[in-house]
Amino acid sequence: MPQRTFSIIKPDAVRNGSAGAILAQVAGAGFRIVAIKKQSISKHEAEGFYAVHRERPFFDSLTTFMSSGPLILMVLEKENAIADLRKLMGATNPANAEEGTVRKKFASSIQENAIHGSDAEDTAAFEIAYWFAGYELI
Ligand code: ATP
Ligand code: MG
Repeated sequence: MPQRTFSIIKPDAVRNGSAGAILAQVAGAGFRIVAIKKQSISKHEAEGFYAVHRERPFFDSLTTFMSSGPLILMVLEKENAIADLRKLMGATNPANAEEGTVRKKFASSIQENAIHGSDAEDTAAFEIAYWFAGYELI
């Protein structure tokens, strides 16, 4: 059974022109794009999305970054989508990311790291529902 995950091409990658290459890498790895939209988000919306990190020292800086410019929100589908996207993304800190991963190629720092991917089934369900209405998932 195919599985769905939620992903964001973060504002750093949109700003520096690598969104197209990231999308091509994701599509080339066999993910079907169920839904996709480019928009800016508010600080408040970013805080709700990253609520699990609200006690972390980087929370304010992270949510300021995520609301600093347009990003691309997407729902992706394939067998084993959650784990496979995390593998394609590479480590949170691009300095530790494996060769060929999206973060190794396109991220510039541990914060401005180009891409987000859900880390489990329950977080994927929360994140998809946070950004997309049911009728947008086709
Ligand atoms: P994401 O949730 O965006 O897919 P992740 O699961 O690899 O990334 P998390 O630990 O969930 O990493 O952190 C969420 C995001 O917060 C990171 O992707 C990064 O943008 C930012 N972040 C994480 N750790 C730090 C840090 N030490 N300093 C600054 N920003 C950080
Ligand atoms: Mg995470």
